[in-house]
Amino acid sequence: MRYAVCEWQGRTRVGRIDQAAGEVVLLDVAEDVAASDGVTSLLMGARPSAQDSVPLTEVRLRAPIPRPRRNVFCVGKNYHAHAREFSRSGFDSSAAQGEIPKAPIVFSKVPESVVGTGDAVKIDAGVSSAIDYEAELGVVIGKAGRNIGREEAMGHVWGYTVINDVTARDLQSEHSQWLIGKSQDTFCPMGPWLVTADELDLSDTQVRGYVNDELRQDANTRDLIFDVPSIIAAISNGITLLPGDVIATGTPAGVGIGFDPPKYLVPGDVMRVEISGIGVLENPVEVF
Ligand code: MG
Repeated sequence: MRYAVCEWQGRTRVGRIDQAAGEVVLLDVAEDVAASDGVTSLLMGARPSAQDSVPLTEVRLRAPIPRPRRNVFCVGKNYHAHAREFSRSGFDSSAAQGEIPKAPIVFSKVPESVVGTGDAVKIDAGVSSAIDYEAELGVVIGKAGRNIGREEAMGHVWGYTVINDVTARDLQSEHSQWLIGKSQDTFCPMGPWLVTADELDLSDTQVRGYVNDELRQDANTRDLIFDVPSIIAAISNGITLLPGDVIATGTPAGVGIGFDPPKYLVPGDVMRVEISGIGVLENPVEVF
């Protein structure tokens, strides 16, 4: 199943995507809930009834979880080739620990940084001159748990989405901790919708990142250093994961700082992240 949040006739709605029909089936979810919890409202026990079906082309998609209740958990340096390119870039405040992390590097993005597909990622030249893209698989937790073992971890996953972990490299480096460089307003594009876990095979899911139709990133989730069960086990080690929590699982090689000279984002660029079995997340870059 695929669930989305969309704008239809001036209202924010939760819907189920019917791809074969090219429609979204709008569900009876209160508008304020749709605009905040989004699709995760479906985890809270309610069984909303279906209302209108409308053509997908006539709605404006928003992030499937427009305002997550907690920070988005993120994993850094989680593909081998990217871990090497980042360690050598000069921006990696964790480089002293070696190129390949021994345990997942976990940071977060504030909920207010989330935007949907089609929304602009805004660059503030007075704040950063080194803004970069990161194509990533996003995992959405469906069942709470603490100290979740690897073997049981997938039972806590509700579904997946596409995330672009946009980053101000200069701020990421300057502050050592990554939160400020990762949490700038509009720096967490998420979408186009959520795909339930039964529909995706993580042993063969392709993650691709483009800038202006140029393929920059291309890897498979089987190449993750720490796979999804390992990530869930690590984050839930003493922290209770909750339904609606989102985890961005790390980005493949090919980010802007992997090039010499670096290819930073500039206004007018269009970023596109494609994940096989999920869909396409596209965001233009504009000035703030
Ligand atoms: Mg990242």
